[in-house]
Amino acid sequence: MVSQPTTVPCQYRTGRTLGSGTYAIVKEAIHIKTSQYYACKVINKKLMEGREHMVRNEIAVLKRISSGHANIVTLHDYFETSHNLYLCFDLCTGGELFDSICARGQYTEADAAGLVRTIFGAVQYIHDCGIVHRDLKPENLLFRNKGDNVEDIMIADFGLSRVMEENKLHQLTEICGTPGYMAPEIFKKTGHSKPVDIWAMGVITYFLLAGYTPFDRDSQRQEMEAIIAGDYRFEPEEYWSNVSPTARAFISECLTIDPMSRPTAADCLAHPWLTADSPHFVESE
Ligand code: ADP
Ligand code: MG
Repeated sequence: MVSQPTTVPCQYRTGRTLGSGTYAIVKEAIHIKTSQYYACKVINKKLMEGREHMVRNEIAVLKRISSGHANIVTLHDYFETSHNLYLCFDLCTGGELFDSICARGQYTEADAAGLVRTIFGAVQYIHDCGIVHRDLKPENLLFRNKGDNVEDIMIADFGLSRVMEENKLHQLTEICGTPGYMAPEIFKKTGHSKPVDIWAMGVITYFLLAGYTPFDRDSQRQEMEAIIAGDYRFEPEEYWSNVSPTARAFISECLTIDPMSRPTAADCLAHPWLTADSPHFVESE
């Protein structure tokens, strides 16, 4: 199904498992000839039966944007055997942002603002290329190196991404993503596009600062109802007492229910919480 399968099948030796997601296992892989390390996404063809278009789509999107931005994982190679499809990426050795949040409990405002600014730079690039990611969440944000450096955060997993036609705000209608990060318009099936990534960034920013997500409820149904109603609070107070009104305003803007009124990536980068004169950047430089 991949247009140009590599004819030499064993150029890589796979090692330990780095992570797994919905359709794939990602393993460390060494390119035998060059001794270079990569992350190899192994997709079982049988498991993907009927959904092969998702992999084709992921490859097409990555070809369009790979190497175009320092904070997006680069696809180096892809090939297939009779059982599996293989996508070889830059190896990110620093792990998932999800694990860093869990290890720290919560991020300081300065570190959170640095990370969010870096991620938004890459989101803006993706959107300018006409692509919507649709699955932004801390499990799909990886540190290139160990050490949690805010400049090292990379956007990965373009499995659910789509290429959009110019200026259409309501093209996509399928329900997909990860419930806690999904925007209200996805559940309403009224059509969705780039603004869903801004909503997800609002949820991620909330998670970074509080250590928990805003729409966590006892059931998925309640969670969906909370998202559609935009029902979240900066509570309990003990988790929010050190968080500035500017940071809260930033989150609130990202979590605007109406996608047409939600800020764009460029608007977010121009928000006082993320601009150069923000106290966080003075402090952290
Ligand atoms: P899925 O589409 O199945 O969610 P992902 O592309 O998100 O697959 O990969 C699953 C997991 O594998 C990620 O959450 C991460 O832990 C790990 N992973 C993916 N890409 C890389 C990479 N380039 N470097 C290191 N780990 C990776
Ligand atoms: Mg994933």
